[in-house]
Amino acid sequence: MKPENPPGTPYKRNDLEEGRVLYTEDSLELWYRWSLGKYLSKYLEGLKEGRILGRYCKACGRIYVPPREVCQYCFRETDEWVEVGDTGRVNTAVVSYIQADRSRMDKPLIIAVIELEGASKGMGILHRLGEVDPEDVINRKIFGKKVKAVWKPPEERTGSVNDILYFKPVEEV
Ligand SMILES: [Zn+2]
Repeated sequence: MKPENPPGTPYKRNDLEEGRVLYTEDSLELWYRWSLGKYLSKYLEGLKEGRILGRYCKACGRIYVPPREVCQYCFRETDEWVEVGDTGRVNTAVVSYIQADRSRMDKPLIIAVIELEGASKGMGILHRLGEVDPEDVINRKIFGKKVKAVWKPPEERTGSVNDILYFKPVEEV
């Protein structure tokens, strides 16, 4: 049985070509500025130097990475800058074959939450995993494994989260 058409009149390709339907093929180019504030700025400056910085709250002992101005548990200003390691463990990860524009990628991106050594448990940064078989994400073998940052060469760093190219496993998956 032929499915019923939804309500309305579907348009056809030549409706577009012959100008019966208004549309635009322009893409919008939008520029904006966003003030990072002093904490995120210092974090990104640290990345440019190959260091990962966090903030320590001496009231509860938590170390925030990325740094936070205010401790979300104590509702007070954090106290000190601390440097944490560029190694950590994979808390969770996902394999994505879909780009931001929803087109399909042949080689997937693997995005993970990484709990850095030196930061408090449960503080994870979102970053890419590399040198990982997507199957090891799908079958969860990568979860809990130790990974290390692979940095851009110093002269190519710009003070961005992308100064770290990805994290790679340093123990057998
Ligand atoms: Zn606290």
